[in-house]
Amino acid sequence: MKIHEYQAKEILASFGVPVPKGISTTTVEGAVKAAEELQAEGTSLFVVKAQIHAGGRGKGRTKKNNAKGVILCKSVEEVQQAAESLLDDVLVTIQTGPSGQLVQRLYVTDGVDIEKEFYLGILLDRAVSKNVIMVSTEGGVEIEQVAEETPEKIIKAWVEPGMPLQVNQARMLAFSLGLEGAALKKGIQFILGIYNAFLKTDADMMEINPLILTPDQEIMALDAKVTFDGNALYRHTDIAELRDESEEDPFELEAQKYNLNYIKLDGNVGCMVNGAGLAMATMDIIKLSGGEPANFLDVGGGANVETVKNGFRIILDDPNVKAILINIFGGIVRCDRVANGVIEAVKDPEIAEKVTNVPIIVRLQGTNAAEAKEIIDNSDLNVISAVLLKEAADEVSKVLA
Ligand code: GDP
Ligand code: MN
Repeated sequence: MKIHEYQAKEILASFGVPVPKGISTTTVEGAVKAAEELQAEGTSLFVVKAQIHAGGRGKGRTKKNNAKGVILCKSVEEVQQAAESLLDDVLVTIQTGPSGQLVQRLYVTDGVDIEKEFYLGILLDRAVSKNVIMVSTEGGVEIEQVAEETPEKIIKAWVEPGMPLQVNQARMLAFSLGLEGAALKKGIQFILGIYNAFLKTDADMMEINPLILTPDQEIMALDAKVTFDGNALYRHTDIAELRDESEEDPFELEAQKYNLNYIKLDGNVGCMVNGAGLAMATMDIIKLSGGEPANFLDVGGGANVETVKNGFRIILDDPNVKAILINIFGGIVRCDRVANGVIEAVKDPEIAEKVTNVPIIVRLQGTNAAEAKEIIDNSDLNVISAVLLKEAADEVSKVLA
């Protein structure tokens, strides 16, 4: 589960990890009030930051006003202008994709002087089944680029899951950033603190870019990107409440209600498949037949009438869908059952209305595939059967032509 930067910083602060002061708001008036409050506490440089569930805001631009997603301001008036230019506009960054993300919330923070920018990331290293903490002196830039061009500039330490970070590991990491004296001590405390936060909150990713050293030798998280392991949210009700569904894809939200493994894509051919690997292969087939997948949908092992119906509902809600390809391998689940399920689902009045102009191509292979094909072929519905994947692909091509 993703959260906003301002929420991430509040969590980090509660674990003693230093972050700049800030106030979040959803209105221009709120931004002005926040700036006035910060000013009363001594702030003279402000930062207005769009709160969306995506990074790259500093280099991103909004669609209407061409505003940056992170704006440095020297006065309360500038904060007001920045807020006006961001709120209700759509911010496009390298991480949002071309459609961008609507800005509904801002974070007004105390602008901090930067002496040095670093990078810090914590995540699970699946290759060794351990958590990895990575730091780099190359902060403020895309870490992917550093990993590609100068991987030796990323220093890593691994920790057994469930175990705390050792002080000597934190020292090694802080030292590798070139920190000295008081800054080194603060760096070590920062790394121990953030790792503790990672562990205690069941986070699955924490990324601080930039982590900064101020001219006063303070170490701070200037940005914070944090995500949590959805499977652990049941034991963090306070964190679960931070979920902002308005930032999530409405189709994916709907699919979660039905326990479907669904990812929305931009294409024109919907697909419904059992098994993630077969779903990936089916998306390739769609591309080979000249279409673009409209989604990834793995209905899992139990492709029964209910799952098929729910799958149809979600796929058909997407106006871009011109055809649906159902690709089921009958191993434990029998193909004739799935075929009957598809027929029954398509007869559902709500679905029937929507599929009149959307041909359904069904490829069933495995146990009782022949019976399944007969069931499909004997129905008078807008459903086309295919036995081989090649045939399914050809049918998709014909429909799109
Ligand atoms: P991102 O672009 O979404 O990763 O947003 P960040 O929070 O990382 O902000 C982008 C950039 O704005 C940072 O890399 C900094 O260079 C700059 N920035 C953000 N906050 C401050 C601040 O308090 N002071 C200064 N001087 N620069 C800041
Ligand atoms: Mn950043």
